[in-house]
Amino acid sequence: MVQRARSAVVFTGAGISTECGIPDFRSPGGFWTKYKPIEYSAFLASPETRLEAWRRFLMIRETIGRAEPGPSHRAVAELVARGHVSCVITQNIDGLHAVAGIAPDRIIEIHGNGTYAKCLSCGLRHEIDWVRDVIDETGRAPACTACGGIVKSATISFGQAMPEQDMADARAATLNADLFISIGSSLQVFPAAGLPVLASHNRTPLVILNREPTGLDGLARIVIHADSGPVLTAVMARIWRG
Ligand code: NAD
Repeated sequence: MVQRARSAVVFTGAGISTECGIPDFRSPGGFWTKYKPIEYSAFLASPETRLEAWRRFLMIRETIGRAEPGPSHRAVAELVARGHVSCVITQNIDGLHAVAGIAPDRIIEIHGNGTYAKCLSCGLRHEIDWVRDVIDETGRAPACTACGGIVKSATISFGQAMPEQDMADARAATLNADLFISIGSSLQVFPAAGLPVLASHNRTPLVILNREPTGLDGLARIVIHADSGPVLTAVMARIWRG
């Protein structure tokens, strides 16, 4: 199926980056088994909650900062380079698809990007290192240097509006896809998980590759419950053989 594909969409979740040392959130022992997610409204409502959200973010950010793309990211990048995959839609904020060499115009980050921060009022970009310094020096969550607005990582929190253009682009890519492959996502986070549903309703073959069963397995043409690295490495070996 992959060899025949000319406009496949690869849809990725936290599971594709666990082999790079970045834990996912829902697996046993994952981040959310320890910390309840902070809703966007709570982040806006209180400076103390903002500080707590930033502390957690900086903890995760440290791990992400050290991570390199893994075998799965490299396999997906090669499938893009060979013309089988036209677009990668990711829920991840780690930027590793780009580091693996995929051009930015082929990556849609529907949950944003964790490599920088933005003022929620004026949109000014702020660097994460600056945020860390402000917190270290003042013990407070940062405010925008230009307008005094609330500064937040450029990621999408629970309860925060999805980026409209990115979601529209993701839907368009899904409707144009000749194959839709979901890798390392529990497919529990909506509206993101609506994309494989859309592919399936559009009669596009859906492949789900995930360590554990997902709620959408019943919609898939092929379901593989395994770690993504070894499976994608085997797929690539087959493609290289021709
Ligand atoms: P999730 O944590 O809900 O699910 C990850 C899934 O990946 C799990 O079902 C797990 O069984 C599977 N998995 C773990 N390791 C795997 C491997 N090596 N091979 C195959 N499957 C594997 O993640 P999600 O559905 O992506 O949603 C969580 C949200 O948290 C997302 O919105 C995402 O933005 C965010 N998040 C991002 C990162 C990151 O950027 N790397 C990390 C954690 C969470």
